[in-house]
Amino acid sequence: MASVLESPTSATCDSGCSEELMAEYQSPLNYVQTARTKIVATVGPACGELEQLTRLLESGVNVFRLNMAHGTPESQQTFVDRIRKISNDLNAPVGILVDLAGPKFRLGELEDGQITCARGDEFFFVKGKSNAQNELTTSYEPLIDELSVGDLVMLADGTVSMQVEEIFADRARMQVVQRGTIRSKQGINLPGIRLSAPAISVDDHKHAIWAAKAGADFISLSFVRSPDEVRTLKDIIRSCGSKAGVIAKIEKREALDRLEEIVAEADGVMVARGDLGVEIDVAQMPIEQKRIIRTCHDFHKPVIIATQMLDSMHESLRPTRAEVTDVANAILDGADACMLSGETAIGKHPQEAVAMMNRIALATEKSMVGQPLRAIGNKRADGLHDVTSAVVHGAGVMAQVLEAKLVVVASHSGRTALGLSQQRSFVPTVGISNEETTLRQMCLYWGVMPLRNAPASNVEQLIKYTDKWACHHGLATRGDRIVIVGGSHLTAGSNDSQLARGVHDIVIVHEVECMGK
Ligand code: PEP
Repeated sequence: MASVLESPTSATCDSGCSEELMAEYQSPLNYVQTARTKIVATVGPACGELEQLTRLLESGVNVFRLNMAHGTPESQQTFVDRIRKISNDLNAPVGILVDLAGPKFRLGELEDGQITCARGDEFFFVKGKSNAQNELTTSYEPLIDELSVGDLVMLADGTVSMQVEEIFADRARMQVVQRGTIRSKQGINLPGIRLSAPAISVDDHKHAIWAAKAGADFISLSFVRSPDEVRTLKDIIRSCGSKAGVIAKIEKREALDRLEEIVAEADGVMVARGDLGVEIDVAQMPIEQKRIIRTCHDFHKPVIIATQMLDSMHESLRPTRAEVTDVANAILDGADACMLSGETAIGKHPQEAVAMMNRIALATEKSMVGQPLRAIGNKRADGLHDVTSAVVHGAGVMAQVLEAKLVVVASHSGRTALGLSQQRSFVPTVGISNEETTLRQMCLYWGVMPLRNAPASNVEQLIKYTDKWACHHGLATRGDRIVIVGGSHLTAGSNDSQLARGVHDIVIVHEVECMGK
């Protein structure tokens, strides 16, 4: 979200387009400075104050991620309150993604906090307490029972690996294959080992309920292995009355093996490269990333690319060439959003990292202007109705052919808006809805700028509102064309009952009547 435009002062509105309504909305739209690709930023000590969060929003953040692997619901609630306050002050929707830790296992405490492991050194995973320097403990109690001789145990983000040599009742003997330093509480990855740990731990369950009640817009699940796990999380959060979308984090081989089923079940996907790059051969990761993006597109789901996108900006004010290229390629491949993790949560330059990501996205998107519209994914079983899909396609083509200045999409669930987003059109696209959660979820949809307070269920009022709003913000002037697209709810509140009857979706081309600012 870039600069906030001024509120109108002189608009004269007819019914459904009241002075107050127009004056109330401060547009976050700035298509010159803000990229179409959405930016997800992780909140942490480096950016959690009100002013810092505001600056990140002004630099281009669309969705804030709260990582439940750190902090408690109580501490994260402070961030939720701050983000909602800023969103209210700016009168602009901002998305919140709560990231559940999932079955991530960690090392116990190490003597002196760390150990340097040389190739060939012998270590043991032990049950209970460690009594020697080379005895390791873990937060996953059944580990020793589930390991087999020959398994690889990856530590320290995959930089250290040990091979299991022998299993005893109370310990597993391992030998260091790849040397390095391990530290207390670091994550353990067990590539290819089928573990009995439930996908949703007791803590995840508690955190999911908190997130649902706190009004999270998205809740992501780590280490997803099957579509059932996504369904279970959906059931938990729906039972709390939440409409939060469930994001499946793809970071295990098992998830790649069942990718289509998982993507079909989820509301969105995150390519969680931090763990994925350890759980599978890191050399395979770029190709898998591309496959995940393609599958998400086929199933009409938004996809976030995460981890190490601008990693060097933890310390440095400039990213490496390779990082810039990584972000650009993710966008060219079709990512809806790029994510910053430690760069914003604990890095030295959170605001610069966001601004840099926005700059890279803007520069990359320039090269995409003028490309033919992408087809809308059609594999999703419960996806876009064929009428909606055809209307969205028609609207995208019309907007291009007629050189429309704006597309306005009225979307109850957000699906129609996501359909438009998938086409990667560069005609500025505004999403409206009566549902605040839908508006906030649009924060993740490529190229869709959510607009609060527009009359989303009355077509005549919407045309008038759009006309004045677009003129006021200098987005259109008399004679320009605006394409309005929406579902049947848009005509439900119409004064013309003939219009409402039997309507499925509509697309309207409106010629602007008001004069510019
Ligand atoms: C990842 O593994 O890339 C990821 C985003 O998850 P986390 O930050 O929880 O490890």
